[in-house]
Amino acid sequence: MSPKELRSVFILLTFAAIMANDHVKFQAIISHCKEYGFIFPSSEIYDGLSAVYDYGQYGSELKKNIQDYWWKSMTQLQDNIVGIDAAIFMHPTTWKASGHVDNFSDPMIDNKDSQKRYRVDHLIESFADELEAAGKKDQADALIASMESLLAKSDFEGLKKLIEENKIRCSVGGTSNWSDIRQFNLMFSTQLGSVSDEASEIYLRPETAQGIFVNFLNVQKTGRLKIPFGIAQTGKAFRNEIVARQFIFRMREFEQMEMQFFIRPGTQKEWYEHWKETRMKWHLSLGISSGKFRFHDHVKLAHYADAACDIEYEFPIGFKEVEGIHSRTDFDLKNHQEYSNKKLSYFDTELNQHYIPYVIETSIGLDRTVLMILSEAYEEEDLSTTDKKDSRVVLKFPPRLAPVKLAILPLVKKDGLPEIAKEILADCRGKFRCFYEEKDTIGKRYRRMDAIGTPFSVTVDYQTRDDQTVTIRHRDSMLQERIPIRSIREIVEKQIL
Ligand code: ATP
Repeated sequence: MSPKELRSVFILLTFAAIMANDHVKFQAIISHCKEYGFIFPSSEIYDGLSAVYDYGQYGSELKKNIQDYWWKSMTQLQDNIVGIDAAIFMHPTTWKASGHVDNFSDPMIDNKDSQKRYRVDHLIESFADELEAAGKKDQADALIASMESLLAKSDFEGLKKLIEENKIRCSVGGTSNWSDIRQFNLMFSTQLGSVSDEASEIYLRPETAQGIFVNFLNVQKTGRLKIPFGIAQTGKAFRNEIVARQFIFRMREFEQMEMQFFIRPGTQKEWYEHWKETRMKWHLSLGISSGKFRFHDHVKLAHYADAACDIEYEFPIGFKEVEGIHSRTDFDLKNHQEYSNKKLSYFDTELNQHYIPYVIETSIGLDRTVLMILSEAYEEEDLSTTDKKDSRVVLKFPPRLAPVKLAILPLVKKDGLPEIAKEILADCRGKFRCFYEEKDTIGKRYRRMDAIGTPFSVTVDYQTRDDQTVTIRHRDSMLQERIPIRSIREIVEKQIL
């Protein structure tokens, strides 16, 4: 083998090793989530339901903490953003006006041998990743550019030809025996009331945004809000995703955290940049390094947008979208005005003018953020010393997001130690989530707290009876120090606010 060939083999093997490692890490996170009460497959006793998951005792706390953090940053800490909570069911015309009935579909292609169905852009993008990893970056870039231009024209024949010319194969069957490309609508429908006719067919909302648009004037008038202002909402959304794999990354029932910011027409460029920057700062405030994020500008814009980008995070499965920022123009309000025959314009007293506001949207998936935080926090640490093999799995959550903030552990179950520990529990439990445990050795209890990401553990021992001090153990450094009981609350509270 020539040195050049050897180099290529080396690059390929290194890439394969990294991929395998990352895949292993992703699988380890999934198993860990199940083993420690974070996330379970839905209705698991019936073998689960594809792409639907349930959050367990720690997962639901983590999810709620992330949601609260978003809500606080996007409403309470802003001068001009208020929150609402609209219903999941909406009048069916909503989805005609929003364009979802006609446009909410993805081009899909089936492999005729394996019967596996792919989203066309995902199939081509993963092939481009392989090319790039094999040192063929120019070829990968050209492929993506061709794909984007064909998608922009909805040229399905051209896209199929592109897949065939590049000999892209099915990852299951390994063949290139492809069907034609077709569009699939992603909305779930159901019946309202008992009469099963077409008039009563409604949809489970595929995004939370429309609940904000239809309430735009209700909120503006009752809140006496002046443009620019925003309306935020968190809640469930439903999409009949065709390719639903990758754990909670792509689910059929998921949760969004969205904010629609209403602005004067013509100011959308500056507000779009403002929200791009503000949202990236929010992600960095979670303690994640900037190298783990990138912006991905959309070339093929959705039917409602005049500019759009994604904030992508580097998951163990690669860089993928966590949040979308979209300049939605006046598309939604204008259409709702037309379909409902109700005026949805705003009177700008400064300009002395009526207009339909433009909108910048920030839309982040709560479940994807949970996955991002888990991916970032999960670590397997080798703690072996020369005479002892040892390791631990630890979730290094930012303390404010951790499901449990403080573990309270009496060293033994007797001699008055549980009583003191319970007094500490009574003092702290109203302030933040605590966990009390008497069973097993302290070492084992610490490891269990590491595995669920509890940032602080305090141990009550015999010395506590004499001097009212406890040992506090810090999760990440594993350092232990002696502190007075009276300062426990303050130490924890300082870290979680
Ligand atoms: P994708 O391209 O990954 O399908 P999208 O561009 O369709 O996502 P948006 O419609 O912009 O997503 O939705 C906003 C956010 O909602 C996304 O950034 C993502 O975090 C989240 N989201 C969308 N679809 C899902 C899903 N099926 N499961 C979990 N989260 C989702």
